[in-house]
Amino acid sequence: MKTLVVAELCIGCEICVGSCPYAAIDMVEGLAIINDKCTNCGACVEPCPQEAIIQEGKIEKEEADISSYHGVAVFAEQRDGHLSSVTTQLLGAARDLASDLGTQVYAYLFGSNVKGLAKDLVAYGADKVYVADEPRLEHYQTLPYTKVIVDMINQSKPEIVLYGATHIGRDLAPRVAQRLCTGLTADCTKLTIDEETKNLFQTRPAFGGNVMATIMTPNHRPQMSTVRPGIMKEKPKDDARPGEIIDFQVEVTDVDFLTRIIEIVKDEHKGVNLEDAKIIVSGGRGLGSKEGFKLIQELADVLGAEVGGSRPTVENDWISKDHQVGQTGKTVRPELYIACGISGSIQHRAGMEPSKIIVAINKDPVAPIFTVADYGIVGDLHAILPLLIQELKTRGLGGL
Ligand code: FAD
Ligand code: SF4
Ligand code: SF4
Repeated sequence: MKTLVVAELCIGCEICVGSCPYAAIDMVEGLAIINDKCTNCGACVEPCPQEAIIQEGKIEKEEADISSYHGVAVFAEQRDGHLSSVTTQLLGAARDLASDLGTQVYAYLFGSNVKGLAKDLVAYGADKVYVADEPRLEHYQTLPYTKVIVDMINQSKPEIVLYGATHIGRDLAPRVAQRLCTGLTADCTKLTIDEETKNLFQTRPAFGGNVMATIMTPNHRPQMSTVRPGIMKEKPKDDARPGEIIDFQVEVTDVDFLTRIIEIVKDEHKGVNLEDAKIIVSGGRGLGSKEGFKLIQELADVLGAEVGGSRPTVENDWISKDHQVGQTGKTVRPELYIACGISGSIQHRAGMEPSKIIVAINKDPVAPIFTVADYGIVGDLHAILPLLIQELKTRGLGGL
């Protein structure tokens, strides 16, 4: 697709210049010229009073008959027969959205011999579970999973579909959006229903986290979002919840399997499970050096906690990226989050604010972290942490 100005129609009014968020329109001798900063976003097309701006090669899609779509669906991600935590969290969010819309919650489950998980999905909030149980779907593969979920969506016609912003969800959801010619908002932090229009408000950080953008898909269905693990809250499991389990007729052929899995080699690296941790001890630039993390690790060991870090500690190579908490790291919601030498920037807070109890240790009494902390200790962490570790060891409070 290419955005062009039809020179014969342009009257040089300059209206389009202000409408372009990318400074991609220059006025040259009274004529609008689109430069190479253009992202083809289309924002300049409508404001032009002369209809002089066109988008060559744009695929127009007929507006969907929105009224025929009902229900809030969740792509139920599982690995090795275990539901991922983001799936149950999304079911919690889907239940709230469905109750605002007066509709049902669907779950789309894929895999081989996974039918047993369907009742867990019901217990966590699904009213209907569509199960694609088929040996060839045992491991995630982009093309066959896309084909089957598109078939499921076309059959069940949900108005909303939610995916975890995991490696799988981030790969699958854009493909589905493209096939269905609908919108997709990535990494949402808040999902609500507009009372008036019943559209889904999808809120996510934009421009480096400096603004929160609320995005809608008013003319197409389904409305689709990805949400990072840890953002939404699951509902308590209720094994007595009634629900319908539907065997979905999977229609895949060799053409849908352009790639073949020959072998799965699991990474030996012990991953950090920050998302499920009950206690996290996190270190920031205030640690002063990589050595500082020894104190953090010691406190974490006493408490039976995981270790987290702010972005500068990752960038300085004091700790690996999978420990990073924040907007571009992980979102966590432990029972206890201890922030040591972390200033509390908006990007860091975006990843840890849902924590139940926040303790901050910082030598600056006006550090922003204290605005979200339940308990604050003002002082040098190199003096405070050894005291804390000693005290915990003496009192035997390890593994709270
Ligand atoms: P600083 O802001 O430098 O704070 C260090 C703190 O330690 C200070 O408050 C200081 O008073 C205190 N201190 C110093 N010495 C001691 C001592 N001896 N004892 C006690 N306290 C001490 N950041 C993240 O963390 N996660 C993200 O995911 C993330 N994503 C980002 C995405 C974007 C697009 C951008 C632009 C930025 C992002 N950042 C992220 C960076 C963020 O803006 C901050 O720069 C970062 O969080 C600051 O890290 P910090 O608190 O460790 O360091
Ligand atoms: Fe030309 Fe239209 Fe831009 Fe006005 S808004 S300068 S007519 S392209
Ligand atoms: Fe600017 Fe978007 Fe128009 Fe390109 S399509 S000139 S980026 S407003």
